[in-house]
Amino acid sequence: MSNETSVMTSKETQSKEPGTTARKRGGSNCRFCAAPLSVNLVDLGMSPLCESYLAADQVNAMEPFYPLHVFVCGQCFLAQLEEYVQPEHIFSEYAYFSSYSDSWLRHSKKYTDLMTQRFGLGAHSLVTELASNDGYLLQYFVEKRIPVLGIEPAANVAKVAVDKGVPTLVEFFGVDLARKLAASGQRPDLLLGNNVLAQVPDLNDFVEGMKILLKPGGVITMEFPHLLRLMDENQFDTIYHEHFSYFSFLTAERIFAAQGLTLFDVEELSTHGGSLRIYARHAEDVTKSPTLAVDELRQREENAGLNRIDRYAAFEESVKETKRKLLDLFIRAKREGKKVVGYGAPGKGNTLLNYCGIRTDMLDFTVDRNPYKHGRFLPGTHIPIFPPEQIRAAKPDYVFILPWNLKEEIMEQLSYIRDWGGKFIVPIPEAMVYE
Ligand SMILES: [Zn+2]
Repeated sequence: MSNETSVMTSKETQSKEPGTTARKRGGSNCRFCAAPLSVNLVDLGMSPLCESYLAADQVNAMEPFYPLHVFVCGQCFLAQLEEYVQPEHIFSEYAYFSSYSDSWLRHSKKYTDLMTQRFGLGAHSLVTELASNDGYLLQYFVEKRIPVLGIEPAANVAKVAVDKGVPTLVEFFGVDLARKLAASGQRPDLLLGNNVLAQVPDLNDFVEGMKILLKPGGVITMEFPHLLRLMDENQFDTIYHEHFSYFSFLTAERIFAAQGLTLFDVEELSTHGGSLRIYARHAEDVTKSPTLAVDELRQREENAGLNRIDRYAAFEESVKETKRKLLDLFIRAKREGKKVVGYGAPGKGNTLLNYCGIRTDMLDFTVDRNPYKHGRFLPGTHIPIFPPEQIRAAKPDYVFILPWNLKEEIMEQLSYIRDWGGKFIVPIPEAMVYE
């Protein structure tokens, strides 16, 4: 694909080439540096909100679809969606309960042990989590008798946290809330946020809020999917309306630096297909020296081209090829009369199914461990969601694993499908069958 030219195309040329006009649109600016956005990363077409599971009485109603089109800033390389949907609409009744994944709970427990030891946390400390969900993580600090505060905008999941003894404020985080909490003496020694940074529409307000709230000498950790992995491994289904931003380490470093926060360490994690855990401190706090991991990752991202616009422009073609390979596999299976069902109903599955056009013609149903989703339907594709036991009853030839980042855990749980010759299909990084 010739990338430089598509980037540089003038408005006049665009209007003569149908199909390329949609790659540009006027008016939008980078949510970090405010430069005009003009470079296409990938256009996944129109898609419904991926957490809007439908109840049975909603399937005959109209359903809103929004563009799922990611741009990358030519100045700071922040990959981003426009804010098509107001976050209040997405997050106030959230269907995602973190505690339904065993591996995510283990990951969180391990994190609390690590932080307690490394930063000497105890009864004198405060740990604050942004987007604390159902208390899946803070509960382990509570067990250690370390004071905690959760901040979670979705009232239904926050209630679950409070019920299990995790103090939780139902609020959106930003400068305003940070000032209030700081004024009331609630400045944390450890301020964390897992998979929240991507979901923040006003990124600068959020990061400035963290600067205000963090205790002098305190530490921030944030986990987010790593853009390097997303691009190297075709993880385009981790793009959805709830994720406004997609970060490399290089770009994250700039965003934090702009608010007086320095990244002094980084870890690469296997979660969500490959995430970063960044460690930040106040720029003026010289007690924590940058680790070698910071230099090493910065160098690796530069070597991978993440500071050059042509690397970004090359991504879309690999997404299209991933779709073609997956559809090829599905079409062959259906021609042979095979029964294919899904496992999982994660947000990423909805991006994948809508982009690929996979509906009940290809996938009879899917299952999920979260009872909130049982009896509901996937947005857009209207594939029904059942409890996991339905797989045993249906004896499918193939189980299509939508949360591919948990494929080992799921293949282990469902190893019984081999009793009737069942196999697994995993879509990403490319469609593969596992016997
Ligand atoms: Zn920018």
